[in-house]
Amino acid sequence: MNACIKLNSVSFKYDHSIVLENISLSLHKGEFLGLIGPNGSGKSTLIKLILGMQKPMEGEIELFDHPIKQFKEWPKIGYVSQKANTFNGGFPATVFEVVSTGLYGKMGIFKWLGKYEKEKIMEAIHLVGLSGYEKRNIGKLSGGQQQRVFIARAIVSEPELLILDEPTVGVDGKSESEFYQTLQKLQRELHVSILLVSHDIGAITAHVDLVACLNRKLFFYGKPMEFELNQTQIMSELYGQNIHVLKHNHGGIHYVK
Ligand code: ADP
Repeated sequence: MNACIKLNSVSFKYDHSIVLENISLSLHKGEFLGLIGPNGSGKSTLIKLILGMQKPMEGEIELFDHPIKQFKEWPKIGYVSQKANTFNGGFPATVFEVVSTGLYGKMGIFKWLGKYEKEKIMEAIHLVGLSGYEKRNIGKLSGGQQQRVFIARAIVSEPELLILDEPTVGVDGKSESEFYQTLQKLQRELHVSILLVSHDIGAITAHVDLVACLNRKLFFYGKPMEFELNQTQIMSELYGQNIHVLKHNHGGIHYVK
């Protein structure tokens, strides 16, 4: 089975403090994985490792079945950061222009947009439900709409894997549900694999195929139904001190001390 992301016993430390310990998980093609954990639990660090911005202290990371060191197909990965939706009205760029910047990596060097690129941009804007907004100034859009513009920018180069780091922070409830609909559409229609980092447990478990709970160690990795059945225990372990690691075991869960 094709894995977009595979982590095998990955550990990481900043200076002397261990931030990630013995993390093993995978995300297969077309799957939607939700990563949850308290503040400071290592979620962003894990994303940095996957994006090659930091090197693991121990363990292996594979992207699309290649060791990360040999991985060259970075345009296969689209990334939407936590800070993406912070335009406050002043930035004079249109939705179309912002989305077009997502093609720079794919084109290699800068070139003026041709008919093909323009069509791709319009398609991405359509996919996130913003047709008709192409010429609008991004700063004039709501937080939820801005977030969808950044998803369009991430998907315009047709990535196979989309990584989103806390994308719904500061976004209202209605926009959040539109946001999840957009992601499910990408997953179903384009078979994009998705890794979504969030602290919103309720929203995550309602939409994903797999849940991973992180607080330095992986406390749970499995299907949302398994998570819900054991939620009280997992949450008390995730936010408390009592460490049992729950591991995904092809549909079942078992404890590892
Ligand atoms: P999360 O995304 O879950 O909030 P982070 O990955 O940002 O967690 O942080 C995990 C831990 O690593 C925290 O204790 C944080 O203070 C620490 N940390 C994050 N970035 C750095 C850094 N560049 N240098 C040192 N410590 C860091």
